[in-house]
Amino acid sequence: MKGKAHIAATAITVGIASQTMGIDPTSPLVLIGGLIGSILPDADTRHSYMGKMIPAWLIFKHRSYTHSLFAMGLCSGLAWAMFGRDMGIGIGLGYGTHLLTDGPWRLRQFLFPLTLYKRKTRTKKPVANH
Ligand SMILES: [Zn+2]
Repeated sequence: MKGKAHIAATAITVGIASQTMGIDPTSPLVLIGGLIGSILPDADTRHSYMGKMIPAWLIFKHRSYTHSLFAMGLCSGLAWAMFGRDMGIGIGLGYGTHLLTDGPWRLRQFLFPLTLYKRKTRTKKPVANH
């Protein structure tokens, strides 16, 4: 999905959230946060507007860790701590809408870092010694 489509989808999400969650859709911080959050995950590609501002593509593959729930929580939490509740909610709504509309998902990256833990269920077979 292109950046403009992510922004349009986030505008719809902010509208729905304003009706269901009591968020003020006219708050400039919600709108700015939603705008930034809707394109922030694509900082992992050099072809996006955000990738030109924040070159995360130097570190991450496209649609990998920047497209995870962990990254969404981290970015919205940092925005909340630095700029207040409305910015944090805006970033979270925009980021979350981007992740939902950007499919197909890679579940391993989407659930990062939960997927770092590999459960060992296999037991080693004894080596035949003939
Ligand atoms: Zn994306």
